[in-house]
Amino acid sequence: MQIAGYRTGPDDPALVLAAEGNVERVPLESGTELAYPLGGRRCAGLVDDGTHYPCDRPKAPYCDRHARDWAPSYADEEYAVYLAAFAPDSFKVGITRSWRLDTRLREQGADLAAHIHTVSSGPIARNVEREIAAGMPEAVRVDAKIDGLAAAVDREAWRALLDEYPPIETFAFDYGLSLADRPVAETVATGTVLGTKGRVLVLRRGGTVYATDLRALVGFAIATETEADRDRQTSLGAF
Ligand SMILES: [Zn+2]
Repeated sequence: MQIAGYRTGPDDPALVLAAEGNVERVPLESGTELAYPLGGRRCAGLVDDGTHYPCDRPKAPYCDRHARDWAPSYADEEYAVYLAAFAPDSFKVGITRSWRLDTRLREQGADLAAHIHTVSSGPIARNVEREIAAGMPEAVRVDAKIDGLAAAVDREAWRALLDEYPPIETFAFDYGLSLADRPVAETVATGTVLGTKGRVLVLRRGGTVYATDLRALVGFAIATETEADRDRQTSLGAF
């Protein structure tokens, strides 16, 4: 069994597991128990129309053949230009097709956001974004998002930004995590799910809360129980 992908967003965050060509979605709802010890990692292959096509190449999460083409294409339809805030003080500018705005912000795990322009096409949105991006990043690293998981947004800095870019509409998102302390950043898929925030999975294992970048899980084989038992016996045998 291999972790072949994940889903983010408001409706059905999930881990996508693949075994012998079949695909299974494991919902990442609060309270779900995950028990997937990680084995080796290689290319996650391709999931198409419910079928998994595995790949033996070592590059993870995807080899060059299976890496999705991230070069964005901009459609000739209405776009929103937005600002997004990630606790405590990471701010970014972004664009998305207007109808996807709420989803796009949740996919990224934004804490606060402001829709600041509506434009008639993707290329125009890209130009507006580029201008604003002269003073603000177009992306916030997942590490920074994990660092800020237990923090609150610097409201003063956010308000100052909105003075500069008056919003058409503002958003505030609650991912239901209410963490007292910053979780330990670690790539794990075993524990009780507390929730997800964008592509960050938060789970509790023992007394410790961990935060995992879902993308960092993609490509891992799940060690079977037999393998885990064998490892245990091997380590016991060493004594
Ligand atoms: Zn591949």
